[in-house]
Amino acid sequence: MNVSSRLSETAGQYGEKPAYYFEGQAVSYSQLDGMVSQFAASLQSMGIEKGDHVALLLGNSPYFVIGMYGALRAGATVIPVNPIYTPAEIGYILSNGDVKGVIALDLLLPMFEQMDAQLPVLEHIIVCETPPSENKQFNLENASIRPKMKSFTSMLSASSTGYSHPELEPEDLAVILYTSGTTGKPKGAMLTHKNIYSNASDVAAYLKMNDQDKVVATLPMFHVFCLTVSLNAPLMNGASLIIVPRFSPKEVFRLIKEYKATVFAGVPTMYNFMLQYENGLQEDVESLRLCISGGASMPVALLKGFEQKFKVVISEGYGLSEASPVTCFNPLDRPRKAGSIGMNILNVENKVVNELGEELPPNQVGELIVKGPNIMKGYYKMPEETAHTIRDGWLYTGDLARMDEEGYFYIVDRKKDMIIVGGYNVYPREVEEVYYNHPEITEAAVLGIPDPEQGEAVLCYIVTTNPDLTGEALIEYGKGQLAKYKVPSVIEFLDELPKNTTGKILRRALKEQVAERSRL
Ligand code: AMP
Repeated sequence: MNVSSRLSETAGQYGEKPAYYFEGQAVSYSQLDGMVSQFAASLQSMGIEKGDHVALLLGNSPYFVIGMYGALRAGATVIPVNPIYTPAEIGYILSNGDVKGVIALDLLLPMFEQMDAQLPVLEHIIVCETPPSENKQFNLENASIRPKMKSFTSMLSASSTGYSHPELEPEDLAVILYTSGTTGKPKGAMLTHKNIYSNASDVAAYLKMNDQDKVVATLPMFHVFCLTVSLNAPLMNGASLIIVPRFSPKEVFRLIKEYKATVFAGVPTMYNFMLQYENGLQEDVESLRLCISGGASMPVALLKGFEQKFKVVISEGYGLSEASPVTCFNPLDRPRKAGSIGMNILNVENKVVNELGEELPPNQVGELIVKGPNIMKGYYKMPEETAHTIRDGWLYTGDLARMDEEGYFYIVDRKKDMIIVGGYNVYPREVEEVYYNHPEITEAAVLGIPDPEQGEAVLCYIVTTNPDLTGEALIEYGKGQLAKYKVPSVIEFLDELPKNTTGKILRRALKEQVAERSRL
């Protein structure tokens, strides 16, 4: 139960077939497996062994794929980190995560030099070279990190006698994922080999991934959605990845067409960008058999607009880092329901419960809880948070959901995003859906603002294609479709909504704007 040893088995079966395409070049399963073994051997010769933590600070590239599978093959636990986090965020994760080695882009070396004294456990900095650029005007000749530095490329070409197989148990840690959380510091979700392996194989079986598939890997690889759905699941089944270093609609359309991709996985904002992109044509994407959406709720208007224009089916799923991540997906052999995250995937059970943890009947809203082989071991060095989040073997997701009579789940909203107006619950998502239906609106986000009479009132941020659209007109529009207490009392226009690198709308940044407004 180890995705890295599974890669060797797949290589045995699919030898010369491309495992991935990157920048116009194909790399076969045998080549990839060879590089992974070589990298694992080099890591072991540096003293990395079972139980050591190795962080990846990389964009989407072969460095990531070889680095991750190589570290796992050496027996290490991998900590993928967003390379564009601030030095303070990265420093926290490396220190809290007891990281012994990092595999990082060379652009980050000045940052490592600055934080060296604060990271006494860090022994190795494996440097991934990027093309020369103006940003790289640094001189590390007398740097204190110099003795720790090693070149990724030279580790791949070093002569070695092979790696020694670590004794790995299913319960040993494969990955620690730091989740941003809502309050306090990020928490490290500990995912075992069993967690990672089982979720990737269950997702692959559910979505019928096979050796005929070509999967576009444009979601960030450091995010668990990409890790499981666009990396592990395809590579366990002989499919080929098309590695996209940075998402852009133009590039994605080009690659889908060039390689005749069959599966595309993205977050809703990616679908939105692709739908808005004027040069995107149906014929560019006619090879796709499946589009997957997850990570955030997919507005129904966007889903339908995309499906209509491109004649593809979008299957929405749901997951979270703590569940490796997938728990639900729309099935392929039953009707796909727009607005639903689908049904239990194989081996995973979802349930909607009340405040006492009791299961609710269909169509009642409560917290979504999840059980299965994909549920994390706990948060790294945080026993109290672990005990609060996992109770009686069930993971409490913090998301509000309902289930219909046929077993399809619907995310209503995040528990903490619910707005209470004069005692009535308003779920931002429901209001957003109404505004996404407006033909001149491309993005909408709804938040609560303090209100002296009602406790809270509804504020809606709007991105529009019509500069003449007014707030009053949009409030009137809302009145025609929503109960009175759900209608926004304030509309604010933005050029675009703030998003993180995964493409998720940053509600926290919007909330800060709201807090700032209330202070004025
Ligand atoms: P992360 O751990 O960063 O993957 O974030 C997990 C969170 O993303 C979940 O708890 C949900 O709030 C949200 N999420 C993921 N998929 C969906 C979806 N299909 N619909 C609504 N929210 C989602």
